[in-house]
Amino acid sequence: MIENYIARTIDCECGKSHSSNVETIVINNGVIENELVDFLKKNGYKRLTVVCDNKSYAVAGETVCKALDKNGITYKVHKFREEAVAPNEYSVGNLIMGLDTECDIILAVGSGTINDLCRYVSAVVGKEFCTVGTAPSMDGYISGGSALIYNNLKLTFETHTPKAVFFDPDMLGNAPRDMIASGVGDLLGKVNCLTDWRLAKIILGEWHCDFISGIVEAAIEKVCDARDGIAAGDGEACATLLEALLLSGVGMDFAGNSRPASGCEHHMSHFWEMRYLLEGREPVFHGTKVGIGTVIALKAYEYVAKLNPDFDKISGISRASFKEWEKSVKEAFFDASTEIIELEKKSGKNDVSKLEKRLASIKENWAEIKKLAGSVMKSAEVADFLKQLDAPTRPNEIGVEKEMAWQAIMYAKEIRDRYTVLQLLWDLGELENFADMVINEYYG
Ligand SMILES: [Zn+2]
Ligand SMILES: [Zn+2]
Repeated sequence: MIENYIARTIDCECGKSHSSNVETIVINNGVIENELVDFLKKNGYKRLTVVCDNKSYAVAGETVCKALDKNGITYKVHKFREEAVAPNEYSVGNLIMGLDTECDIILAVGSGTINDLCRYVSAVVGKEFCTVGTAPSMDGYISGGSALIYNNLKLTFETHTPKAVFFDPDMLGNAPRDMIASGVGDLLGKVNCLTDWRLAKIILGEWHCDFISGIVEAAIEKVCDARDGIAAGDGEACATLLEALLLSGVGMDFAGNSRPASGCEHHMSHFWEMRYLLEGREPVFHGTKVGIGTVIALKAYEYVAKLNPDFDKISGISRASFKEWEKSVKEAFFDASTEIIELEKKSGKNDVSKLEKRLASIKENWAEIKKLAGSVMKSAEVADFLKQLDAPTRPNEIGVEKEMAWQAIMYAKEIRDRYTVLQLLWDLGELENFADMVINEYYG
């Protein structure tokens, strides 16, 4: 199915033409010895830097090295020493220093972080990169954006897509259960972000593409159908999950940004990620946090579906002044607050004039908004799926304290200038009520 969307340009009804730059996607047993080697030979790559960490080396790196040896392809292995490699500027520097500067191509062996680092570094040094993916744990394998932390803020750098990606279904099925669960969390996040995207179209008139949404929605459906197999670690079912995640990546490529793959569920995840990093805590998988964020975001839509706002009164609700807002942001984001404050100065999304304009649109389109909110998959359904994989569904289950959970709901929307259901709740003067309700449910 995914082959239908890559290596070609699609003229779309939305008025844009969509294309993905990734040329080769192979999901096949024995892919390292066969298709990867063929790809390298066919393209004349004779000298590689193989990038991995200890775990991915054991899972696939060793097999890669053996296959390269056997075929007389020269390589240097750059193995990160940390147990959990951080996706930040220090790891970028580490990789640049460990790179064979004469190599023809960088081969990323691993999942999320290894790929984001290789994607970024390969673009910066002007080299191609390709990937042997080891787990269906996130959607970023073929996206053009690299999610990295810079100056304590998680940002998406527009870089480039890999030339080719290779996956072995058996390897995917044998991936640690929490990594598979992370992939499910990241994928279920699309349920929310596609809704956030529609919401932005309704309220702001933001560009939206039904074709892209449709691709991702169909992928979500397939994964829901394969639920039992995924939970059992079946290779084919996990390949279905991976393909869905890749399609979400294609969606980002098609849109030219991460809108079809990232809404407020991701912003909450980014918030916890930044805080954990700042506090030197053990990192939690991206999709695990996204899954938890998704449950909260879908609760937000359920909350919206029950609202009957009195628009005349909403305009009169007193809003935090910029000074008060700045103080709260500093308390929530610590060292990362400088960037958040800069972003708000630029976007002015909380300015009263912009708010009034949005409120007028919300009032006019309220029936449609309410219908959208009522039509989304229920939070309980997503939580059920995650529980089947023994994955956390609430922030307290990954060690997030009450206040940090509350802050995520209140301030995640400040991380990006991107309209989501959390911004809608703020616009309606309901965000704090919603945050209190969820926190009360979770923490008592
Ligand atoms: Zn389109
Ligand atoms: Zn994600």
